[in-house]
Amino acid sequence: MQALALKYRPKNFAELIGQDVIASSLSRALDSERLGHAYLFSGLRGSGKTSSARIFAKALLCQKGVSSHPCEVCQSCVMANEGRHLDIIELDAASHRSIDDIRDLTEQTRYAPMSGRFKIFIIDEAHMLTQQACNALLKTLEEPPSYIKFILATTDPLKLPATILSRTQHFRFKPISIQNIVHHLEFILSKEGIKYEIDALNILARAGEGSLRDTLTLLDQAIIFTHENISATQIADMLGILDPAKIDEILKVVQNGVDADISALIKELNESDAVMIINELISNLKFKFISPNPSFSLLIFERFFRILSQAKNMLNSGSDAEFVLYITLFMMKECFNIPNIDNVILNAQSSLDNKTNQNLPKSAQTPTNATNFNPQLNQPAPTKQAQKPSSADMYERFLGLIYDRNYELGECFKECICFDGFENGIISLSSRANNEQSAMQRKYWGVIKELALASFGSDKFKVQKIPNDLPKSDDDVLNNILSAQNASPNPSNIPSQNASPNPSANNNPNASDKQVSTNEISITPLSEQALSKDELRNINELNILFGEPEIIEDKKDDK
Ligand SMILES: [Zn+2]
Repeated sequence: MQALALKYRPKNFAELIGQDVIASSLSRALDSERLGHAYLFSGLRGSGKTSSARIFAKALLCQKGVSSHPCEVCQSCVMANEGRHLDIIELDAASHRSIDDIRDLTEQTRYAPMSGRFKIFIIDEAHMLTQQACNALLKTLEEPPSYIKFILATTDPLKLPATILSRTQHFRFKPISIQNIVHHLEFILSKEGIKYEIDALNILARAGEGSLRDTLTLLDQAIIFTHENISATQIADMLGILDPAKIDEILKVVQNGVDADISALIKELNESDAVMIINELISNLKFKFISPNPSFSLLIFERFFRILSQAKNMLNSGSDAEFVLYITLFMMKECFNIPNIDNVILNAQSSLDNKTNQNLPKSAQTPTNATNFNPQLNQPAPTKQAQKPSSADMYERFLGLIYDRNYELGECFKECICFDGFENGIISLSSRANNEQSAMQRKYWGVIKELALASFGSDKFKVQKIPNDLPKSDDDVLNNILSAQNASPNPSNIPSQNASPNPSANNNPNASDKQVSTNEISITPLSEQALSKDELRNINELNILFGEPEIIEDKKDDK
């Protein structure tokens, strides 16, 4: 039986497998007769270099004229196909690498072709030539007679001297894709009338590593080994690799996550090569990843790939193979237990929201939160709220997040914004912002809302605008409030007057002696009428401050 690689050697560019770009550029060169005098074909073994060189030579010599579609019937084509054309001279540089071999060859270039229009030299494995041989060839490559064509083929073009590379047209043959090889194997087997499983052909193609010739040699072997009925299990057996079903079983056991099963499986795999198991797992996962219905999420694939790549590195550095396998499979098992980071964030956020909502009624009952208009009265009682984050803590966190995001904005907030409280999902602030600061807050309104959502679980604001010309010191503020109360007993005037010039005012020990009197002011009930007026004013000021954020109606009967 003739070897399949020889029997199915491509006869023309259309039959060349997986090298479409090269086939079409060589065809164009032939059809337009724009021909160089020296070509270099480089690429993996069995990727079609020598076949292409022979097709190209035949096309140059066809008696019907130079064409990408040689006639195949003229004497020249027939002789070329049979490998006995006198003007196609092949030299295997692996076995004829000396300067004498090249001298013999250059000697032949002196004589005109026997029958064709060109004399074509195909030098295979050109990188094997000795340096002297290369130099001898170089002279002829530089100024060849017009009837001479050179085609050099090599698997390692970097080993050729630059002087040769620069005198040749370089065509780079890529490894043939698994898909193309499998397709070609199917074509051959159906022609030969041999039964096969497609999985078996995939294993063979992968074992051939992009070389069609190697794969066809394996196929020859497989046809004999399997008695012309090629199954995946038998091919895995022949190549000494794991059956694809076994790889699926490994993945299933890992996914089920029973430690004893994983250990038992590793004991069972004891006789197989660990590197091969890891490689088979990777290619199996790759196959699953590109399939229309991937078995795992992208996250799991990514984690598996990392773990397996790590395992390969460990095995390459000579680590204990069985131990690497243990670590690898148990780490893969853990992949299913690590939650998605997005889910963690979502859960944390929703639990924060829940906490905030649960806190609300309690904090509303505490007298310190009864009014949200005076920042100096809004210090939450630390003993009562030690377990849960107080609204002041939340604001602290909010301010921290603003600083993290944009230091300037943080400074701006610290300077002109005072936290009044957080109630019913509404963040109450007092603002002494000047035009510039307001503009900045408007610009970053989206960010501010986003960070408020992260720290308070709400992005609804109520902002009270305080005129910039208020007295600055704490004592002055208190005096101002007191005098306002004395001058006008109507409590509805109070909220518009009270203010803290900066957030640190609360910490000023000098203010403590006046605290009692301010407390008295705050517990004076505010009329519903006054609140709604305030509400209206706040809405207007909020618009000036931040543009037009959404407003939630505040409860009017809160005390
Ligand atoms: Zn012909």
